[in-house]
Amino acid sequence: MTDCLFCKMVAGDIKPDVVYENEAILAFRDINPQAPVHILIIPKSHITTLNDLNDVQLGGQILQVAVELAEQEGLTEDGYRTVFNCNRNGGQAVYHLHLHLLGGRQMGWPPG
Ligand code: 5GP
Ligand code: ZN
Repeated sequence: MTDCLFCKMVAGDIKPDVVYENEAILAFRDINPQAPVHILIIPKSHITTLNDLNDVQLGGQILQVAVELAEQEGLTEDGYRTVFNCNRNGGQAVYHLHLHLLGGRQMGWPPG
């Protein structure tokens, strides 16, 4: 997808602050962090929303990377939040699947 921001990051045309990469997944720091730690974990393949994720193994890998990065960022014991925003009511702004990893402060519930 040439007009997708996150595909441009995967292609190397835009260079985010990458914290993890493997053949299927890229993770980088959010440009507008909502917590002391705010990382986005994305599949390298263009998947538009969570509704379009039909690869259970890839979904599992994304979650596994989130847990590993939480450990790496020192969030494991105090805790953290992971979020997939889906479509308009979910607050999705970038239509390339991404898992938010947020930590380093107390989170509120329910989310606004
Ligand atoms: P959404 O609302 O779609 O779940 O979240 C999109 C996220 O992407 C937002 O937290 C936003 O700050 C982040 N974002 C948007 N543009 C960029 C960018 O150019 N670079 C990085 N690193 N993050 C971005
Ligand atoms: Zn994309």
